[in-house]
Amino acid sequence: MSWDPTGAARLNLTFDPEDLSVPQREGDACVVCHKKWPRPRVRVGRLPNDAPVMACEECAHALLPAAPAPRQKPSTKRAALP
Ligand SMILES: [Zn+2]
Repeated sequence: MSWDPTGAARLNLTFDPEDLSVPQREGDACVVCHKKWPRPRVRVGRLPNDAPVMACEECAHALLPAAPAPRQKPSTKRAALP
């Protein structure tokens, strides 16, 4: 995996605080899985009041499947994979 947390700067989803728990609203818990530890480190968006919304790296991936995958070329050489 080569997920680059700094790349998260371009993510700017706006979350509805009504959908979030208090720890999630305060950036203390992952917005996806509610995990507080390890502390979520990827900013995936914000609230209408500009508070950051955090997710752990795995969940940030899940949230953003379209995030560019570095060096992923068309798999012409891997055609043998099922
Ligand atoms: Zn998570």
